[in-house]
Amino acid sequence: MRLRMWGTRGSIPAPGPETVRYGGNTSCVEVSNGEPDHRLILDAGTGIRHLGNTFGADCPARLDILLTHLHSDHIMGMGFFDPLWNPEQEIHIWGPASATRTLAERMARYLSPPFFPVRMNEIPSKLSFHDVPEDEFEVGGFRVKAERIVHQGPTVGYRLIGDGASVAYLPDHEPALAGIDSVKHPEWISGYRLAKGVDLLLHDAQYSDTEYPQRRGWGHSSISHVVSYAQVCEVRRVMMFHHEPRHSDEELEALRETGLRQWERTHAAEDLMLAAEGVQVDVEGSGIAFGEFDSSAPHAVADATG
Ligand SMILES: [Zn+2]
Ligand SMILES: [Zn+2]
Repeated sequence: MRLRMWGTRGSIPAPGPETVRYGGNTSCVEVSNGEPDHRLILDAGTGIRHLGNTFGADCPARLDILLTHLHSDHIMGMGFFDPLWNPEQEIHIWGPASATRTLAERMARYLSPPFFPVRMNEIPSKLSFHDVPEDEFEVGGFRVKAERIVHQGPTVGYRLIGDGASVAYLPDHEPALAGIDSVKHPEWISGYRLAKGVDLLLHDAQYSDTEYPQRRGWGHSSISHVVSYAQVCEVRRVMMFHHEPRHSDEELEALRETGLRQWERTHAAEDLMLAAEGVQVDVEGSGIAFGEFDSSAPHAVADATG
């Protein structure tokens, strides 16, 4: 399973010289199993704009965008995603159900004036919206499981299985609010079934342990929480994700160093990583390989599978 990090920042874009190494674009991860006609995209933060630019004429016939929730940092890039404006393009948008409004109605609140110049019903591509089902579902060769997790408003995390690997994506998550270590049965921990035993967990790592107490209940995790959560869920590796916009590259590295003290009791240091924009990750069971990709180059299929 190949992942490409198009946006790793949380809350609001944070471009600038102090964030060049890990990136300033908000959440967006491309997931590929080498199938040229299909692509999975996790969240539509500002990173998705670059992804759309590089697809060009080689855009896979079907795109599935899995939204974790509708906070602006996760949908901000949607209107600037080129394939949205191609009448031939098939795009499926998945997201958490809400008791009050459909996913399409909620998205239309953003994709309409005064927030956006064009109304959603004027968008030419073949757009369809789906509430994520409670049971596992199949999308483009991946088995997908979505489940409600602890965050502000309806929010899900995702577990993807396919192409010889398992990956969990929980970019906005505060499991500590409902308990991690103090919980009697691990199944009661928020998102446990999503993360349990995965090869790679991409998880909210917004705060340091000193920042967290003032931000308790804001829906995000401290570094200690991420590590505890990953250890209880017995994941193989963790990628710290949804970086706090105030944190510079150096501060992110210091945050990881703090996390290592607890992480290294159970895992190797290299298995606790910082998600970085422009990095490509190939996950294959026990193996993992990294590369970089040129976010301005055409996105050829051979490139995505090779
Ligand atoms: Zn967020
Ligand atoms: Zn959020």
